[in-house]
Amino acid sequence: MSEKKFIPLSVPNFSGKEKEYVNDAVVSEWVSTGGSLVPKFEQAIADYVKMPRGVACNSGSSGLHLAMMMAGIGEGTEVLVPTLTFIAAVNPVRYAHAQPIFIGCDDSLCISPSLVEEFLQANAKMEDGRCINKITGAWIKAIVVVHVFGNLADMPALMKLAKAWNLVVIEDSTEALGSYYTEGEYAGKYAGTIGDVGVYSFNGNKIITTGAGGMVVSNHADWAEHAKHLSTQAKADELNFVHDEVGYNYRLTNLQAALGLAQMEQLEGFIAHKQKMYDFYKEHLDGKNHYRILPFREGTRSNHWFYSLYVEDSHPMKRDEIIQRLQQEKIQTRPIWALIQDQADYHKNQRYGDKLAYHYLEHIVNIPCSTNLTQEDAQRVVDVLLSL
Ligand SMILES: *Cc1c(COP(=O)(O)O)cnc(C)c1O
Repeated sequence: MSEKKFIPLSVPNFSGKEKEYVNDAVVSEWVSTGGSLVPKFEQAIADYVKMPRGVACNSGSSGLHLAMMMAGIGEGTEVLVPTLTFIAAVNPVRYAHAQPIFIGCDDSLCISPSLVEEFLQANAKMEDGRCINKITGAWIKAIVVVHVFGNLADMPALMKLAKAWNLVVIEDSTEALGSYYTEGEYAGKYAGTIGDVGVYSFNGNKIITTGAGGMVVSNHADWAEHAKHLSTQAKADELNFVHDEVGYNYRLTNLQAALGLAQMEQLEGFIAHKQKMYDFYKEHLDGKNHYRILPFREGTRSNHWFYSLYVEDSHPMKRDEIIQRLQQEKIQTRPIWALIQDQADYHKNQRYGDKLAYHYLEHIVNIPCSTNLTQEDAQRVVDVLLSL
């Protein structure tokens, strides 16, 4: 029998003009933070999500840090965040010397508007247009919404709450480039463009990649300008090295932008492929052998970035055993994130409504979803899962 092929969880796909564009950039010798491709890539992303401009940065994490500073998050303020997500969505709150308040999820795995509302009703009051935490006395100034696995959060409900409590809305859209609402008040609106600030990531496992990289968009032109300023060392007078605040070197390079431009040409194709393989898994696994394939929100076009296999309690195996058995078959999968409220340094922060988050954490396995996953590979994943 031939050696079994390794099926990775999520890897890059460079079947477009990546090599050509990167080669051109190297030949031109514009490989660092100068060059024409960074603004070109910024415009490509902005045009795609229908925003006036994008501000490139060197990771989604630095983009989220910029978002905190754009929103004026600082000492004495607090930020509502999801407890079920990747830690990069929350750490920037601490970089900005503020504190997170952890909120549980709904069935979309995204932050639950009803839990946010319950928490605020019980623990906050409005004072001079500020949402004040009655327990800590701090100003709850913003909410971070993560569109988990490319699935849009309940933005109509979240935006209503943000308006009522005067909260800045930061959309962590690092997993959701290409997802948009098709129905309702936000029909046609892309993930990242509904709140005040949106952040995308081009890390290697995301739907498109620049190796590492990120992009910030904002519905406030001056906030976007501020993000550009902060990400380029806050130069007030470039020639004379005058800086008017503490800035950062969060720039993307021309080489990375070359990759990004080639990837953007393929984004819609990637999404179509992800959708097709999702439908394949759904057909063969949903409702079979105590599995469910979790759906994406109705009234949206999701980018289908990650697929969630939900393992019912009635299944003879627990999550970790399933992951291990797949690993023995050279199929890479993973559990979802341990809750951030349980991570080092976050034990003392307020939290509310984590029951469903723990439940999903214990029951979900992410299964292979690369944009170059073949039907043959997916069939092997299905066959192993059905044999367990
Ligand atoms: C990937 C990711 C980030 C961080 O992006 P990087 O580019 O890896 O820094 C932030 N939040 C979430 C939810 C992510 O999945």
